[in-house]
Amino acid sequence: DNQGYALSDGPSAPAAPASQPAPLVQPWPTAGAIGAEERGLLQSGDGIYVVDAHGRQLIDGPAGMWCVNVGHRNAALADAMRDQAMALSYNSPWYTTSQPSDALAEALAARAPGDLNHVFFTTGGSSAVETALRLMQFANNVRGRTEKKLMVSRQGGYHGSTYLAASLNGRPRDQDWMDGAGSLVRKLTSPDPFRRPAGMSMAAFEDFLVEEFRALIAAEGADRIGAFVAEPIQASGGVIVPPEGYLKRMRALCAENDILFIADEVVTAFGRLGSIFASQDVFGVEPDMITFAKGVTSGYFPLGGVMVSARFFEVLRQSNHPDAMFAHGLTYSSHPIGCAVALKNLELLEGGILDHVNAVSDHFQQSLKRLEALPLVGEVRGKGLMACVECVADRVSNNPLTLDLEVGKRIDAHCHELGLLVRPLINMCVMSPPLTITREQIDEMADILYRGIAMTMDDLVREGLW
Ligand code: PMP
Repeated sequence: DNQGYALSDGPSAPAAPASQPAPLVQPWPTAGAIGAEERGLLQSGDGIYVVDAHGRQLIDGPAGMWCVNVGHRNAALADAMRDQAMALSYNSPWYTTSQPSDALAEALAARAPGDLNHVFFTTGGSSAVETALRLMQFANNVRGRTEKKLMVSRQGGYHGSTYLAASLNGRPRDQDWMDGAGSLVRKLTSPDPFRRPAGMSMAAFEDFLVEEFRALIAAEGADRIGAFVAEPIQASGGVIVPPEGYLKRMRALCAENDILFIADEVVTAFGRLGSIFASQDVFGVEPDMITFAKGVTSGYFPLGGVMVSARFFEVLRQSNHPDAMFAHGLTYSSHPIGCAVALKNLELLEGGILDHVNAVSDHFQQSLKRLEALPLVGEVRGKGLMACVECVADRVSNNPLTLDLEVGKRIDAHCHELGLLVRPLINMCVMSPPLTITREQIDEMADILYRGIAMTMDDLVREGLW
């Protein structure tokens, strides 16, 4: 019975599924299973662990979605939220400010590289990227560079789910069913060393990537390109660590051509790579803007933002249109509870967690690297406390396994039984645990993942699929 469906794709439309979709629509659903996607129920969390509906304790391998940086059930963060809610639960950012938002802005300006002295707070990563892109458009409009609006991103990148941000995404399936703002976007090759052309050296690959950008600038004209947006490490594209000099050289090309370099640090900031912001500390690059979210509150409250340079503000101040308004703001911009949590979170990170990350990162990477002993594993790569295990059809071609094998999901299912939550990404498993994970817990996590992959290999062989 499909009465009431406003949309139909004609007489051959499939019958409505027998069971009614659940009221809760989960993100990233597929059309035929909308409202019926299987998602495991979690009932509680503590430190690096979560507990599922059956009471089983699991290591939170992805820290939620790369965000529960200080771990679950942190009393200091809970207190900060409660205290702020009891002091001032909300204020309109349109005409008021609050003590925690002023203090957080000051704290972030002091920690961001160079003259990134200003911050526009948002509700998460997508709205942060959207804000950065709209700031670029706004600035080029008010300074009369109205043609300079193209946005350059990369294959394999992920920047969010709002319209402009999503238009920049470049992972498999991201654009398939979406009417993105494609005419405003150009995409470059992912700086993925594992997928570089066979026989090409890393140095040659780096040159190729930089020359590709240079050629794009020449073809489009520098006066038509407004921004280059890049995750320092492509996160949900599979933890792609670029060749050594790549980011610096891309940054230099941007500077030469008056193109804003926007570092999307939604994943890499706030400790994942051992620093508050990674662009400069880890990669030696000073961006024009940095977008952040997730770890800024360790995922306890939805908050994000864009760090903006003093240089950029100066351009706006000196334009011929001092009255032009940036018509952009969110009800929850600078939310006092989010900012209060973020301040406490910053204190925790700087009070020992960053040092811990720097102390255990090598151990984390080495423990997972052992998984390359399994023939299903093509590569294990990563940096800091983020890593990706990429499975391949065979290690000669390194071809990805076909989508329908759902290898990531199979591994996740086995690991779940063994006590580990994994984030499956088609043929990849991404690991980014809470930053408080100990060496022993890292070993346990790697051990479970090893067994989960070995069991998956057995299944594939038994089913004649591999
Ligand atoms: N940028 C990056 C690099 C991300 O990983 C994400 C989220 N995974 C986003 C932006 C979007 O953030 P949000 O989901 O908070 O809107």
